Amino acid sequence: MLIYDLDFSALTSLLADWNEPAYRAKQIWQGLYQRLYDSPDQFTNIPKSLRGKLVEHLVFSPFIVKVFQDSSDGFTRKTLFELPDKKLIEAVLMRYGDPADNPQIAASAPNSENLRGAKNRRTLCISTQAGCAMGCVFCATGQMGFKRHLSSGEIVAQVLYYARMLKEENRSVSNVVLMGMGEPFHNYDNTMSAIDRLNDPNGFNFGARRFTLSTVGLVPQIKRFADEKRQVNLAISLHAADDDERVKMLPVNKRYNINEVIEACKYYIEKTHRRVTFEWALINGVNDSPEVARKLAARLKGLLCHVNAIPLNPTMGYNGQATSRERAGKFKEALEQAGVPCTIRMRRGIDIAAGCGQLAGSVIS
Ligand code: SAH
Ligand code: SF4
Repeated sequence: MLIYDLDFSALTSLLADWNEPAYRAKQIWQGLYQRLYDSPDQFTNIPKSLRGKLVEHLVFSPFIVKVFQDSSDGFTRKTLFELPDKKLIEAVLMRYGDPADNPQIAASAPNSENLRGAKNRRTLCISTQAGCAMGCVFCATGQMGFKRHLSSGEIVAQVLYYARMLKEENRSVSNVVLMGMGEPFHNYDNTMSAIDRLNDPNGFNFGARRFTLSTVGLVPQIKRFADEKRQVNLAISLHAADDDERVKMLPVNKRYNINEVIEACKYYIEKTHRRVTFEWALINGVNDSPEVARKLAARLKGLLCHVNAIPLNPTMGYNGQATSRERAGKFKEALEQAGVPCTIRMRRGIDIAAGCGQLAGSVIS
């Protein structure tokens, strides 16, 4: 059993089964989520006998680091983790606006876009599944198909891994985006329990508003999420303004069409009064013209939302190309003139294929 799969009450009852005093649960919890221990040896405040039981019954390292890569400007690190069943997942850290993070590289790249005007932030993009069942044609993860759901502990462990790394430089993760491999709403329960575990004020204490969850548009789950009134930011991958176009890119559109997705977003906004982000991968000649922008605006007008558009990250299995900066600018202009706010995001870590191929840079600051 992976220790990060246990919530506090499960840990408490496990310790009760072992006839340990209740306060041990608190000590272990603090060790894991505040001191960021990842080995039973580090728990010097608990007796050896209990440490022995932890070693015997619980796993502290759910994956091995297969490889990590830093982008040439040093602002993006992608780590590929191998799970015990050999499945691979990845998580990407994106640093913004903080040259001290990597002084040598920053000095050699004073014009890096990542320095300009940005606030100091460290945004972590994590995976919720190995592979993905949704089959979006432009997505590297979609192209590989579905392998399996991640457990809540496997989701949590990606965050803890980077938190430990940053702790060594006296820094911490500022935002977490669920935009790595997988569709978080297809793995709803594990994803939410991972968020809850990281959210715990007596543990890692990572505020709900610092998470952004991105979904391909699974309508029942959007409604469930709305009913739960979570403070987590919600992003919806739209990418097209009419169903014929969207279904070519996102097969899930056969199940839930654009109208249904937008209706679910309205419901979400009514329930939570929170703004929705629509994600838009700009693909040259496909969905990046001012006409498309106006069509999109007609659909979104009046909705508490904004559009995050990012030039496509080209992938092996799809021959679409990224939109130029100039065309992206015109798309944004057309959308905004029609009353819908839009941000064009930069692509991150292109040279290390730091998508999970994806819109991970498209995070609300
Ligand atoms: N499954 C969820 C979250 C993971 S994908 C979802 O689809 O929303 C995160 C984002 O990256 C989505 O908006 C997705 O459409 C986008 N994306 C996937 N592949 C991409 C690519 N090659 N270039 C740009 N964005 C991409
Ligand atoms: Fe899955 Fe999201 Fe990729 Fe679509 S874009 S295949 S939903 S990970």
